[in-house]
Amino acid sequence: MNYHSMSADQLRETGSELQKLYDVLCAAGLKLDLTRGKPAPEQLDLSNELLSLPGDKYRDAAGTDCRNYGGQTGLPELREIFGELLAVDPKNLLALGNASLEVMHDLVVFSLLSGNPDSAKPWSSEPIKFLCPSPGYDRHFAITETYGIEMITVPMLPNGPDVDACAALTANDPSIKGMWAVPTYSNPTGVTFTEEVTRGLLSMPAADDFRIIWDNAYAVHTLVDAPPPPLPVLDMAAEAGNPNRVYVLGSTSKITFAGAGVAFFGSSKENVDWFTKHLSFKTIGPDKVNQLRHAMFFGDADGVRAHMARHREILAPKFKLVLDILDDRLAASKVAAWSHPEGGYFVSLDVIDGTARRVIELAKEAGIALTTAGSAFPYREDPFDRNIRLAPTLPSIEDLRVAMDGVATCVLLAASESLLA
Ligand code: PLP
Repeated sequence: MNYHSMSADQLRETGSELQKLYDVLCAAGLKLDLTRGKPAPEQLDLSNELLSLPGDKYRDAAGTDCRNYGGQTGLPELREIFGELLAVDPKNLLALGNASLEVMHDLVVFSLLSGNPDSAKPWSSEPIKFLCPSPGYDRHFAITETYGIEMITVPMLPNGPDVDACAALTANDPSIKGMWAVPTYSNPTGVTFTEEVTRGLLSMPAADDFRIIWDNAYAVHTLVDAPPPPLPVLDMAAEAGNPNRVYVLGSTSKITFAGAGVAFFGSSKENVDWFTKHLSFKTIGPDKVNQLRHAMFFGDADGVRAHMARHREILAPKFKLVLDILDDRLAASKVAAWSHPEGGYFVSLDVIDGTARRVIELAKEAGIALTTAGSAFPYREDPFDRNIRLAPTLPSIEDLRVAMDGVATCVLLAASESLLA
């Protein structure tokens, strides 16, 4: 029944029934975790062949000895494969270390220390700001926060960030130097940016050295038959007259091994040269043996797509289970709304304003760890205290069922408390 149309007596009665359910939940001594978007062990198993690759091979197609130093730009054959998947010309795509987050961190730090090719001075020479479509990825926000970059929250709409809001800000404030963006199956909302939104972001007036960190972490992580084709965002940026505006990131972290994959960085030639120059002081080259085994494992872009279809077989039932439980337990009460992602790693749950923190606290007491309240927002401040990021990939189906049922109880209990208050 719709909680909003219940009388105070009905709410009290419902609340005490929920309290009993909750007490049973707490007594079960659960220890379940829905916090981080990690692949499940069965997903990692899909790539176990990597553990015995590259065998006794150590040369890439061009004959380079991958065991040795060098090869700053990464293995050409792997850049070819991921160039197709990320819609970036392989010439302008680097294959790097194991974490795209590290590359994003370095892009920000190099810019703070030295400015980018379009900067008149280092970013750190004056206070600067970043646009943060929210809810967004907590580790993005952690980078900007830790280096004292002011974060401006902009709304995330069903088609991508609110372009009008972004443009109104960047047009009038040259201290806005960057923007975080997860264009495909965004973390945590599952939103994929439309072409129109993308063109808006690429053409809006902004400082010359303004950059969009286009973190395409979930480019191939689909749960449906027809995933959105990647937008050739670098070509589109050039067409819009802002060829240096975008840094494209991606990685195989949630394709092969989350801790031992390969990260990619693509941009205009000018940006790639700038980044490579700074990188050359940091490393004499990436782990080419890991890159070689990835290239051998996939063969080509279709090899990656076929591999992702196997991930989908494992993940689709988990996402369906989460959505079924939310629907079954919460739809009628009208105290929550949630995303229906077609890919990526999260379900974004919005509860009654002012109750997210309480839900998370109730779940914690019951032994169900949920992502900290507000973590999808700059400075961990959810303006409405309503958003909860659910990460269904890591737990087993059975654990997920128990955890989600428990979460639903917590949402209802917190809602009944709040409506009575
Ligand atoms: N970008 C987004 C949007 C993510 O959700 C994650 C992991 O959850 C990452 C980047 C981390 O990527 P990597 O493992 O390549 O550092």
